[in-house]
Parts: sequence; structure tokens; C-alpha cells
Amino acid sequence: MKNFPLKLASALVLGVAMLGGTASAQYPERPVNMVVPFSAGGPTDTVARSLAEAMRPSLGETVVVENKGGAGGTIGVTQVARSKPDGHTILLMHIGFSTAQSLYKNPGYTSDSFDPIGLVLDVPMTIIARSDFPANDIKELVEYIKANPDKVSLANAGIGAASQLCGTMLTSAIGVDLLTVPYKGTGPAMNDLLGKQVDIMCDQTTNTSQHIKAGTVKAYAVTSKERVPTLPDLPTMQESGYDGFEVGIWHGMWAPKGTPQPVLDKLQAALKAGLADKAFQDRMAGLGANLLPDRANPEALTAHVNQQVPQWAELFKKAGIEPQ
Ligand code: ASP
Repeated sequence: MKNFPLKLASALVLGVAMLGGTASAQYPERPVNMVVPFSAGGPTDTVARSLAEAMRPSLGETVVVENKGGAGGTIGVTQVARSKPDGHTILLMHIGFSTAQSLYKNPGYTSDSFDPIGLVLDVPMTIIARSDFPANDIKELVEYIKANPDKVSLANAGIGAASQLCGTMLTSAIGVDLLTVPYKGTGPAMNDLLGKQVDIMCDQTTNTSQHIKAGTVKAYAVTSKERVPTLPDLPTMQESGYDGFEVGIWHGMWAPKGTPQPVLDKLQAALKAGLADKAFQDRMAGLGANLLPDRANPEALTAHVNQQVPQWAELFKKAGIEPQ
């Protein structure tokens, strides 16, 4: 009887370890929820829905995309940070994961609220306008904005969104303040641009490519270093005389902090398998996205986030942008 507590303690430890082991071994036990912190029908959603399909065979379960937009993405990101860390809720987010950390005093999460799964892909931005906007090229666009700053509205997906970052880069390069119209994602923003209710927007090629090709929006430039092969007629901002105007929208995948390692391993394997899926590769290439299979691992995502968070914090500080 004397060593009963000790025996009980070790039995408990063993029991818990076995339970943990069993739960992880059976993962996933039900469909996996992939949270996209922006509206349905937008660029992040487009990537997520394709990737969800491509990850399914490896996971052996359906991946369901859940759109949780608002506050530049921080509402959805925070929701995942607070979810049960069992692998059944994961996050697909982009560069905003790092910028929001210095744009908000309290974004609701930090990089440490998550276990990284890996980088996914990188997407260029395009500067576009409603189809009947008076400017026909980037030079005319800048001239028009400078001459009519209080007539031009700029759509974005809220503070912390990629469209807000790129839009701010544009307005500060031109030296004007524009009326901004925030949405829960650039999906609904695009609908309003197509409906001619807003004037201009800076948005990912994963949302704009089809409209640029169809001529339902006007496009002026891409924000990548090189031209985008699928949109060869669009000049880069650098070519257009805006030195250093370069931004790529990297996307990553995370799980809530404390997710068991075997579960994380399965998710990482599924991400790798997804990126190797031919249909996914073709779809993304057609939308101008560059897959990052060599960096689809936790180490690469951690290193990238650790570089991006202080880089943006410093840039915003230099630009006099205060956290709100
Ligand atoms: N990528 C976001 C979306 O999917 C919008 C943004 O970041 O600007 O709607």
C-alpha cells in the first residue's frame, strides 16, 4: 500500500500517454476545419478551397473551409489561436499574420499562439480599377488620383489585410490620402468594384486574374519583381518608376499551439502532398501564384515569420504608422 500513490501516478502517466498516442494515431477523427480569415470567394478562399481538396487524399478526411472575416483577418486568426489544439482546426493566412502584429495594439494573438505547419505559396498583387475608370495606365492613374484625391475610393479588406498594405504603399508613394472602403475580404470588394461602387483596389492575382483577362476590370501594374507569366502585358511597379515598390503575399498554414507532434506531422505531410498535386499546381499557376514546396515545413515558416514581424514593425514605425 505504501507505494500506492507512486503506482497510481505512473499508471496515470502511462494512461494519459496512451490516450494521447491513440488520439494522435487516429487523427483525423472527423473533417478538418481550415479557417480562412476573409470572406468566401476572395483570393485566400480560392487558395484554401483548392488546397483543401488537394490535401484530402493524404489526410483521409475532408477539409472544410470556414470563412471568418473581419478586422483585417485578425478575428479569424484569433479564433484559431483559441481553438482546441487537436488538428481539427487549422489556419490558412498570409502576410497579414505578421503585419497585423504591429498594426494593432492587441491583435488577439502572437506568433507564439500557433504551431507552424509550413509556407504554402507566394502571390503577386495587382493594382486595378473599375472598368470605366478614366485612367488607362499607371501614369494616368497616378495623375488622376493626384488631381482628384477626394473623388477616388480605395477598397480593401481592413487593417492588416494584404489589400490594405498594398493600398497604403500606393497612396504613400503618390503622397495622397484616399477614402478607403473596408470589406471583410476582397471577394465582396471585387463584387463592388465590378458593380462600379468603388474605384480602385490592390489585390492578389488569385482574385484578379480572371477579371483582368476578361477585361471586366482595368489593370495597371503588378507588385512582383518580375512580370507575372500569366499576365505578361502588365508592367511591374519598379518598371513603372516606383523603385522598391515590391510586395509578395506569402501564405502559411498553422495549427493552434499545443497540437500533438504526430498530428502536426500528418498535417505537414498533407500540405506537402497538396502542393505536389497536379490539379492544384495547374490551378495556382494559372492564377499567377508560386508554390513554395521546399519551404512547406515548420522551420521555414518560423524563420520567415521571425524575419517578417520585426521587418514590418520597423517599416511601419519609419512610416509613422501607429498601432491602433
Ligand atoms: N486576401 C484577402 C481575402 O482573401 C484580402 C486581403 O488580404 O486583402 O479576401
